[in-house]
Amino acid sequence: MKIGFIGLGNMGAPMAANLVQAGHEVTGFDPSAPCPEGVTMAESAAAAARGREVVITMLPNGQILRAVAAEILPAMAGGAVLLDCSTVDVDSARAVAAEAGAAGMLAVDAPVSGGVGGATAGTLTFMAGGSDEAFAKVRPLFDIMGQKAVHCGPSGNGQAAKICNNMILGVTMIATCEAFALADKLGLARDKMFDVVSTSSGYSWSMNSYCPAPGIGPASPADNGYKPGFAANLMLKDLRLSQQAAETADADTPMGARAAELYATFVEQEDGSGLDFSAMLPRFEKRGRG
Ligand code: NAD
Repeated sequence: MKIGFIGLGNMGAPMAANLVQAGHEVTGFDPSAPCPEGVTMAESAAAAARGREVVITMLPNGQILRAVAAEILPAMAGGAVLLDCSTVDVDSARAVAAEAGAAGMLAVDAPVSGGVGGATAGTLTFMAGGSDEAFAKVRPLFDIMGQKAVHCGPSGNGQAAKICNNMILGVTMIATCEAFALADKLGLARDKMFDVVSTSSGYSWSMNSYCPAPGIGPASPADNGYKPGFAANLMLKDLRLSQQAAETADADTPMGARAAELYATFVEQEDGSGLDFSAMLPRFEKRGRG
């Protein structure tokens, strides 16, 4: 396939490289990132998109996505697919899909989970929103860049799935960290706490697979000085997107709102910026109730 790839940062570069390795012809654009091996760089986003069957975007936020879409849609061929893999707000995803449809293009929003490691290994999970026709056209690309793609319904539903999942993740990570800090103060050893909770009703992915306590459970960023992993800054971004969506949809999400507040404090007023999101445990460890 002739593919355009716009946004070649930490995630986009290895995803584009995997498409090249699988034999696709990839033209890229990014104003500041270096050119991944095998990708031909274009001078503008529009030039990277012109005449391509699929144009993939992997960008920081919804505002940038809207600006890039406005630039590339007039350059894209009728029937081509705009495949956005960024994590953005549901409203931007739906607005861009509507503009693509009006211009005679197909659109899929397909945010990912799996991080830079998954992007490099080609083992991402894609959560996709869009028509059956659009999903079918890009499905072979999901198979190269990832290990699983779930078609979640119409446009915007990929982003909806992503922020609902990450709202649960943020809340359960905080609950797991505060429970460890309480256990410490009650004199309960962390390995005993893990043994009990990981096989009892308090278990979760945060406890069982990504344990925030160093030296406990499977290897995780806690064992590496809380180097991300999944940065607290990115968790904050996703929690804010969940609260923005909840406001638009008039959904009551008190735990998600509290998790967003706690990660905002951690990242913007404390030392959480640049640390893994599980570094909430040393944060709670140092604190009392006051
Ligand atoms: P990044 O900042 O490394 O890359 C974004 C790239 O977009 C940058 O290279 C930047 O120069 C480029 N860019 C900005 N404006 C542009 C424009 N107008 N035209 C073309 N390129 C432009 O970020 P990342 O870590 O690669 O993340 C990309 C997206 O993936 C984000 O939405 C993020 O939330 C999501 N995501 C990231 C991870 C992760 O672990 N890093 C995991 C899941 C999802």
